[in-house]
Amino acid sequence: MQAALRVYNTLSRAKEDFNPLAPPFVGMYVCGPTVYNFVHLGNCRTFTSFDIVYRYLTHLGYRVRYVRNITDVGHLVGDADEGEDKIAKKARLENLEPMEVVQRYTNNFHQVMAQLNNLPPSIEPTATGHLLEQIEMVQSILANGLAYVANGSVYFDVHKYRQQHAYGQLSGRVVDELQANSRELDGQAEKRNPEDFALWKNASPEHIMRWHSPWGVGFPGWHLECSAMSSKYLGQTFDIHGGGMDLKFPHHECEIAQSVGHCGHEPVRYWMHANMLTVNGARMSKSAGNGILPVELFTGQHPLLEQAYSPMTFRYALLQTHYRSTMDISNEALKAAQKAYRRLMNGLRAAKLLQYPADLSGPAEVQAATATETEQLVAAVYAGMNDDFNTAVALAALLEMLKKINSLHNQQVPLAHYSQASFEQLRNTFVTFVEQVFGLRDETSSDLPQMLEVMLGIYRQAKQNKNYGQVDELRTRFRQLGIVVKDMKDRIDWAYEE
Ligand code: AMP
Ligand code: ZN
Repeated sequence: MQAALRVYNTLSRAKEDFNPLAPPFVGMYVCGPTVYNFVHLGNCRTFTSFDIVYRYLTHLGYRVRYVRNITDVGHLVGDADEGEDKIAKKARLENLEPMEVVQRYTNNFHQVMAQLNNLPPSIEPTATGHLLEQIEMVQSILANGLAYVANGSVYFDVHKYRQQHAYGQLSGRVVDELQANSRELDGQAEKRNPEDFALWKNASPEHIMRWHSPWGVGFPGWHLECSAMSSKYLGQTFDIHGGGMDLKFPHHECEIAQSVGHCGHEPVRYWMHANMLTVNGARMSKSAGNGILPVELFTGQHPLLEQAYSPMTFRYALLQTHYRSTMDISNEALKAAQKAYRRLMNGLRAAKLLQYPADLSGPAEVQAATATETEQLVAAVYAGMNDDFNTAVALAALLEMLKKINSLHNQQVPLAHYSQASFEQLRNTFVTFVEQVFGLRDETSSDLPQMLEVMLGIYRQAKQNKNYGQVDELRTRFRQLGIVVKDMKDRIDWAYEE
């Protein structure tokens, strides 16, 4: 039916036809959050991008096993093999048990994902729940001669690995550059070469997150969990691995090396990376201190925000940008997204209200023309999504459909200009993409429509009675609810104020 889906593979730096290993099954792994802090809007951008990938693949009929982990140990403050564990540090500062920190921020993460209408993954494994698998993987890499033990820690031997395999292909980095950039960090003295990375770290006495291992008491390296958990749930080769652009190096580069070191081949067929959300051109990050939290956005309580923006306004704003482009957050862009989102919701409501009468017939040539036009619009939506999930293009096509739906709803175009089949194609594609693929939902309280019906009854009565004082007052009340009342020829209609 539709043209083949093409996805951009970060590894090959090209768009490739998407051919799952074992169709209709698709395995997708996305690196989840390190739960030592609240997720910020940048993190939300990456997770929402992959939610759309998940939703679209499911819509196309694939059976996706979507694994998104929770990093609850091993991610050190320096992002490399240096410093304290991020979670342990937070626990120390707040005088909490590390798992209390983990639970608190995992709960926050789930709450935010639900607010943004991101679907839960099929499996959400934690690093601490998979220590045995991680230890087994270290043993296997050691047995294959690509790691060494030093002082109770185990390091991946990048130097030796490079003699047999390419390293740095995903990120495009060369090892000479990596060596030049590496500083004298914790554990560096134990390493044979500065580019080596930790698979398992010996825990110093003050390190509170610690487990027994064949090499003594310690904790796993950050990169290891994703290799162990992805292969456990998706197999040694799987279809898609995703994350934010900043994870390409070192995290994903190390994942590739670990898997090759363990089973001899690359784990992932399509690497996909979401680009960064920026604030005034700078990447939003927890450490840079420019992170805007979802709650700050939803309440407008942030110095950079002129007003509150709802979760669906933010989701809509994300959809307006292709996931591989950077996106700068601004009041202007968010206000435009708010308007456009409301327009789309009005269209959604209109589309659902439209009914095609059983005995309707119309001029054949006109119906043929609208049929062609509808086919083209539907094809344009799919063409956008099939071009590496380009939601910006697909959304633009969807807005063209919205115009058609609005003209049917406003009765500018009679329904008889459409055959029943074309009308249903138009309406169903529109509703399905808005709700199921793009995951946009109407945010207004569910009892608003019933309440409006009552108010509209009073409004109608006031008009009949020519009680214009009351009519004006009711109009003001509607406006306070963000509703505009429209006097149509044969009825009274309402819409959200745009
Ligand atoms: P973290 O919890 O820091 O490991 O981040 C969770 C996810 O958010 C990772 O996939 C990161 O790549 C991604 N991420 C972090 N900062 C941004 C940003 N500014 N824009 C988009 N994604 C981001
Ligand atoms: Zn990961």
